[in-house]
Amino acid sequence: MDTSERPRAAVVVTGSELLTGAISDRNGPFLAKALGELGFEVAHLLVVGDRPDDLAAALTFVADAGVALIVTSGGLGPTADDLTAEVVASFAGVDLELDEAMREHIAGILAGWAARTGFDGPALEDANRKQAMVPRGAVALTPVGTAPGLVVPRAGGPLVVVLPGPPRELQGVWPSALESAPVRKLLATVPAAQSRELRFFGFPESEIAATLREIGATRDLSGVEVTTCLRRSELEVDIRPLPGAEDVAEQLHAELAARHAKHLVSAEGTTTDELLARALLERGLTVATGESCTGGMLASRLVDLAGSSAYVAGGVVAYSNEAKTALLGVPAEMIAEHGAVSPEVARALADGARERFGADIGVGITGVAGPGGGTEAKPVGYVCFCVTTSDGLVLARDPRLPGSRADIRERSTDTAMHLLLRAAGGLPRR
Ligand code: ATP
Ligand code: MG
Repeated sequence: MDTSERPRAAVVVTGSELLTGAISDRNGPFLAKALGELGFEVAHLLVVGDRPDDLAAALTFVADAGVALIVTSGGLGPTADDLTAEVVASFAGVDLELDEAMREHIAGILAGWAARTGFDGPALEDANRKQAMVPRGAVALTPVGTAPGLVVPRAGGPLVVVLPGPPRELQGVWPSALESAPVRKLLATVPAAQSRELRFFGFPESEIAATLREIGATRDLSGVEVTTCLRRSELEVDIRPLPGAEDVAEQLHAELAARHAKHLVSAEGTTTDELLARALLERGLTVATGESCTGGMLASRLVDLAGSSAYVAGGVVAYSNEAKTALLGVPAEMIAEHGAVSPEVARALADGARERFGADIGVGITGVAGPGGGTEAKPVGYVCFCVTTSDGLVLARDPRLPGSRADIRERSTDTAMHLLLRAAGGLPRR
């Protein structure tokens, strides 16, 4: 599908620690999402080490790919391996100059730091000076840490926005980067993004592909870009129109929602977590959890959103058989007869949690997370779920979930969230 009409942007993340696997990149996804929401077509997201030649090569590569904007992260600090400002200046064909006002501003920040830590002297002065070196013609952004972000125009393009590496600092500086004059001028040429999102549960990607083929056979869909991605056991479908194809996108969105209504969770971009919170709040319901194989992951997920104390009563991680009996009242004979991983025990965990916490909805999860411990009757990935409510609803499932131990525990949490959403009335209660 041709998306060449949107201005393209690229993200270049620097940091050798990202190439050793020591830490995973948090800035690339943040920037890619932000740029997409602004209406750019994100063409490349590159990660390079702290080597000037590699960074220079990355900048040249994305410039050759025709991007209008490059955003870099990292390498703005005071140490010798922090080389981004120098490399970007040379990419833009300008020299670095000392920005006296910035030097003073950073000196003020450093003085406070020096007073707190006792590290002062020539080393600190060098650091200060280095961080105040700005490519000629660039806009220096007020720092959140000590390194200022930079907006560096280059004759013939692209515009380069240079941001610090620590995610908190990068996200803190980002709004002022957007407000800088050169970025505003560029943004004025970017058509607003009009992405539409659909979220399905229990639904394979191949079904969407088949539906798209069917619709595409009778209608021209070339003006919309459809991407699908699996996240938290949900299939997210993102529909982005090119300028002029908004109607096609809207029709497609409505048609996909109608054709697959049975699996649809949300058509407006709201997440399952938000929908569940909303459903519980609207009806004034509370939840309690009795978890075995997920070890508290469901309770943790339930309290992710601020304000969750209004609907989360509490939870018990009842991992051993004894804990299931002592803390949630699961009869020992039931465990002996049916096994700890059984629909009966899942139900007893749900009822036990609901009763002990005096909640309206109880959820029980017990399963074989593996990699060992599977049997023919109860293989690895066999997980029993039960949600019971004080008005007598019982929702039970016992699927065999695929994947590693971590996958199975995550998918179990996702599945429980969907069952809770049904029980809370946020989805049809079946
Ligand atoms: P500093 O003054 O802190 O050195 P900087 O702009 O030079 O700022 P880096 O040296 O690249 O930033 O990174 C500093 C630290 O920030 C890294 O050690 C890492 O902990 C974190 N960090 C940097 N980049 C990323 C990233 N892309 N994702 C997650 N964390 C990052
Ligand atoms: Mg650094």
